[in-house]
Amino acid sequence: MSSEARVSLDGKHAVVTGGGRGIGLAIVGALAARGARVSVASRAPGELHLKLHDGSYHPFVTAIDVTSEEQVASGFERCRAANGPIEILVNNSGIAESAPLSRTSLAMWERIVATNMTGTFLCTRAVTGEMQSARWGRIVNVASIAGLGGAPYISAYCASKHGVVGFTRAIAAEFDGSGITCNAVCPGYTETEMLRRATENIVKYTGASEESARERLAKSNPGGRIATVQDVAGAVLDLVTGTRNGVAVIVPGGTSA
Ligand code: NDP
Repeated sequence: MSSEARVSLDGKHAVVTGGGRGIGLAIVGALAARGARVSVASRAPGELHLKLHDGSYHPFVTAIDVTSEEQVASGFERCRAANGPIEILVNNSGIAESAPLSRTSLAMWERIVATNMTGTFLCTRAVTGEMQSARWGRIVNVASIAGLGGAPYISAYCASKHGVVGFTRAIAAEFDGSGITCNAVCPGYTETEMLRRATENIVKYTGASEESARERLAKSNPGGRIATVQDVAGAVLDLVTGTRNGVAVIVPGGTSA
């Protein structure tokens, strides 16, 4: 964490999309531990099993499909009714699918772009008005190292995450000096369901063992190791409590191990 002055999150309202599992769940825990009032959005909140550490905080959980303009509008209204104006937004919802370009269908392309890129746009647009009125706001987009460089067999995912990084920089420039910051975190492969599915794919298509598939993914990370959800949540917290604007922070594996 850098040495700049830190903002208190006590009582601040944070919305985390896709906060029911994986990286999002760790972000929810990190924000709540700092005293934020957290709202969690996902498509299936009834199925959320919020493994919050000590049960002393209870996020507001609501159904939002981030690809739907209408659901973002109505869902964010429910978040405001529960926790007040939205001061922090973490655009974490995302999907990943892999295929060589020749087998990347238009439907797959559109699914990935709609969730990762359009979802980030819709949720961000829904909160900047109230952040401008408050003259303060924090937006953090969970992109990926695939948003900064290329990798084979994930062209749609890679394009969508490059889009998220570009969008982040544009919003940072548009709201510069307004009290609102917009930044991205770019994790390498991180220990979640998404990683398990990526590992399964490598095993299925290459015949590699699970161990060597994981090793291959770890080696492709800047830190040479699989990142933990706490690594990513820590990077998000750093941006939310700080004043940097328009940065894309790489989260290498192994920083908290
Ligand atoms: P998971 O698959 O574990 O979680 C993804 C989350 O996104 C779920 O909570 C899911 O909730 C939500 N989500 C998916 N589609 C939608 C939608 N249309 N509307 C609302 N919510 C949706 O993935 P991770 O925790 O691993 O990933 C979180 C983020 O981190 C993603 O943006 C991913 O691209 C990024 N990332 C992950 C890496 C990794 O190796 N794991 C590496 C780099 C970046 P529900 O299904 O209930 O809607």
